[in-house]
Amino acid sequence: MIKFLDLQKINLAHQQEIEAKLLQTFRSGWYLLGNEVKTFEEHLASYISAKHAIGVANGLDALRLILRAYIEMGVMREGDEIIVPANTYIASVLAISDNGLVPVLVEPDISTYNIDLAKIEEKITSRTKGVMIVHLYGRVVFSEDLNALAQKHQLKIIEDNAQAIGAEWNGVKTGNLGDAAGFSFYPGKNLGALGDAGAVTTNDGELAKTIRALANYGSNQKYVNIYKGLNSRLDEIQAAVLDVKLNYIDEENNKRKAIAEKYLAEIKNPALILPEIPADPAEHVWHLFVIRTPEREKLQNFLTEKGVQTLIHYPIPPHKQEAYKEMDEMNFPFTEKIHQEVLSLPISPVMSEDDIDTVIQSVNFFLQSK
Ligand SMILES: *Cc1c(COP(=O)(O)O)cnc(C)c1O
Repeated sequence: MIKFLDLQKINLAHQQEIEAKLLQTFRSGWYLLGNEVKTFEEHLASYISAKHAIGVANGLDALRLILRAYIEMGVMREGDEIIVPANTYIASVLAISDNGLVPVLVEPDISTYNIDLAKIEEKITSRTKGVMIVHLYGRVVFSEDLNALAQKHQLKIIEDNAQAIGAEWNGVKTGNLGDAAGFSFYPGKNLGALGDAGAVTTNDGELAKTIRALANYGSNQKYVNIYKGLNSRLDEIQAAVLDVKLNYIDEENNKRKAIAEKYLAEIKNPALILPEIPADPAEHVWHLFVIRTPEREKLQNFLTEKGVQTLIHYPIPPHKQEAYKEMDEMNFPFTEKIHQEVLSLPISPVMSEDDIDTVIQSVNFFLQSK
């Protein structure tokens, strides 16, 4: 069986370095808000070329904390609207509604699966305070026009960078394209911890300071609380592991790119719609390799029989979830089509040439019914 993602193999590729760091952190006797987190934050900030990086508990918290900080700073108020792609992973939407802000869903472009930048302006109202762009599947979404639109309407650009660490737009890394960015280091992400972990990057010093306090009970100084904060800290152990793996992210993303290029060159099946390599200046770091067919279930069963594990990202869009039943009446035809038709093939830095060839051959053997 070719696993969708072999996390054991991914982490064992750095076994010696990771085990040494784990042991060192264990023996240090210091487990929170110490040198490992500080070092990882410095390295992450420098990798992204952002002024500040703040380690937090997970990716959802990273996004929640950005918006919460803007509320504490008076930039946003409850009831304000944040534009977000309708086909994102639900965490992006949860971060908005959790803060009493209103998610305003916008359809994606059916060929990139990213928010259709041309459809943002028509959704802007007097209550719109931000756009959350999501570099979905690892593909960057950004443009000068988006920047200009944000300037014109005084909108904050928040990047959900959970899936695209290391990707660049015009030489600028994701996480440094907007006003603030949330990262997830969930084990299955391109930079994965050994459990939950996340971070925020920003060039805004006041925002960074507010987030740092909010994530630590609303306190910058022990036992002095300026906000009704939460506890969302990055563990020393996770930071130590992430600091090792950050050194390999470009190499690992390059392996993903090479597999994607091979898939795109050798998968030849008219029944399937393949993803595109974006034109300059955008980039794709292939967190997921997502193909599309109306016969998704048949294809998935066929590949399972061939020993190729696949997953669906994602089966139900946010507006069709029970959790958001108030949006049930809304109509997003592209989003719904995507959720009905997408299937993710295995892609990871540790796939063997044989595994890659088996995936290609299996997919090419799939026959459309008719
Ligand atoms: C994984 C993910 C998140 C949430 O990250 P967690 O660390 O799991 O909380 C948010 N947005 C997107 C697009 C994601 O893929």
